[in-house]
Amino acid sequence: MGTQNQFLFTDRLRNVAVYIKREDLIHPVVSGNKFRKLKYNLIQAKAEGKGTLLTFGGAFSNHIAATAYAGKEAGLKTIGVIRGEELADKIDENPTLKFAASCGMQLHFVTRENYRLKNEIFFLNNLRNEFGDFHLLPEGGTNALAIKGCEEILTPSDADFDFICCAVGTGGTISGIINSALSHQKVLGFPALKGDFLKDEIRIFAPGGHWDLIPDYHFGGYGKVDEKLISFINDFSKINKILLDPVYTGKMVFGVMDMIENNYFPDNSKILLIHTGGLQGIQGMNIKLQNNKLPIINTHV
Ligand SMILES: *Cc1c(COP(=O)(O)O)cnc(C)c1O
Repeated sequence: MGTQNQFLFTDRLRNVAVYIKREDLIHPVVSGNKFRKLKYNLIQAKAEGKGTLLTFGGAFSNHIAATAYAGKEAGLKTIGVIRGEELADKIDENPTLKFAASCGMQLHFVTRENYRLKNEIFFLNNLRNEFGDFHLLPEGGTNALAIKGCEEILTPSDADFDFICCAVGTGGTISGIINSALSHQKVLGFPALKGDFLKDEIRIFAPGGHWDLIPDYHFGGYGKVDEKLISFINDFSKINKILLDPVYTGKMVFGVMDMIENNYFPDNSKILLIHTGGLQGIQGMNIKLQNNKLPIINTHV
């Protein structure tokens, strides 16, 4: 199932046309790439007769929210291992955790030290002893089945785009896009976090392809924002009636606009932005912004 591409604008000075793929509209709650990443994992869990999904995430994780909801819809029990013990008695203050709990997800809070063990066999075995057997989804939901789902983001009707641009967290989504992009297309990834490990991660799931990472638009790191980004997101939604999330898609779109101004794209380029969703995170971000007396993201578009 493909989602719709929406025309944004033509820059006549630099002769580029920009469209946005509305993956954020794919599902009201399980928006964008998290839906793609869960699709074949849910099928696999059911095929193996696993009644439970277990996964990992931080307090504002789109993946935790998506897993909680999708698991409920699929009739699977869900367990979320959450980074930060101090959050255990603050569920009601955190919109993401509150939503996950309301979907029936069992939240299991661990210290930051223990959270780092999330890929260790003994740690996972301890979780199996405690919760019984489960289908494991790694942090951010990235595994081979998730990549398979993300290979369905691009469809044959996207063939005439020259550049495909998407946000990067763990690298799963861009890997799927790279695998299904055509040979004349270049995929540009915009990491939402600092670090140079991402290219190696992406090569594991996408061994070939024509792609690059643009590391200049993380705004100080994962979940970090500034007033410039917030006002960009607010201007963008006013003009285009499309809300962007501040952790991923907002940074990517900001970066592409900046690169257009700096003449990065050749004449006559046709650019497709992938809106990967993540809008559930805005509420939590606005609480943080308000606490720091900063302007908030306007959600009435
Ligand atoms: C998780 C997420 C991403 C990053 O996806 P990865 O597969 O981890 O790279 C991008 N955009 C949104 C909105 C997300 O929630």
